[in-house]
Amino acid sequence: MTEPLIRYEEPAPGVARIVLARADKYNAINPEMIFQVNDAFNRALYDDTVKVVILAADGKHFSAGHDIVDTVDSYKERVQVEKNRVGHWSGFQEPETHGWFAAEKEAYFETAKRWRNLSKPTICAVQGKCIAGALIFAWVCDIILASDDAVFSDPVMTFGMPGVEWLGHPWELGARKAKEFLFTADSWNAEEAHRLGMVNQVVPRAELEGAALAMATKIASKPAFALKLAKEAVNKTLDIQGQANALDAGFYLHHLGHTQNFRQFGWGMDPTNAPGLASVPKKPA
Ligand code: ZN
Repeated sequence: MTEPLIRYEEPAPGVARIVLARADKYNAINPEMIFQVNDAFNRALYDDTVKVVILAADGKHFSAGHDIVDTVDSYKERVQVEKNRVGHWSGFQEPETHGWFAAEKEAYFETAKRWRNLSKPTICAVQGKCIAGALIFAWVCDIILASDDAVFSDPVMTFGMPGVEWLGHPWELGARKAKEFLFTADSWNAEEAHRLGMVNQVVPRAELEGAALAMATKIASKPAFALKLAKEAVNKTLDIQGQANALDAGFYLHHLGHTQNFRQFGWGMDPTNAPGLASVPKKPA
């Protein structure tokens, strides 16, 4: 039986809450967690009594990002991705770029696109660290509430990568600050993220859960169809501005980075700066 890595809760009428429940591993995101979150989003989506979805996390930190042990390059996890795929790609067991591209496209990109386009408002509640792949979880939600101890970073430049799979950075931070965020791999606090417009509100840590629920309850009091239409209208505006194509391009460039690293190091990221990655199990010979 699969271990539950999330919880699905209904904390108020019209509100569903998906909680990352792997605090002992800093809510590190492996493919199993991604597809459990996807199933939970589906449950909320197809339940007509649910009008708003909160994405939250147990523990001190929202998430440390993609799990570098259960990465999509391990054979076990490729099987998991293939079993749960949500898109139209194939070749999950193929070597190097062929299989890695397929696995990341499904697990990290098509799932994110789906959640971004979910026809109900979503609110992400972020506390503590929100690193790299965890940014994708936050950015695809419609509203981000951060506690005053939240810290955001995408440090994958250090591993020879141009950013996480979902290049939301220019849209979330503005082009100039996005470049600084990517080039320096620095961590930015909630106040800075709020100043740049990436975060809707910053609240004290103890008030985060209540603030997210209050926001969700307020939204859930509005007409369901109008909420769907308003979300679609804003998302379509971003699409017309080119967001969807830009995200596709960002994903392809991300994989150009992986491919260079494969050629240079025999691995999709620079293992000299991420030694733990070199011990990840590969497909059996
Ligand atoms: Zn990647």
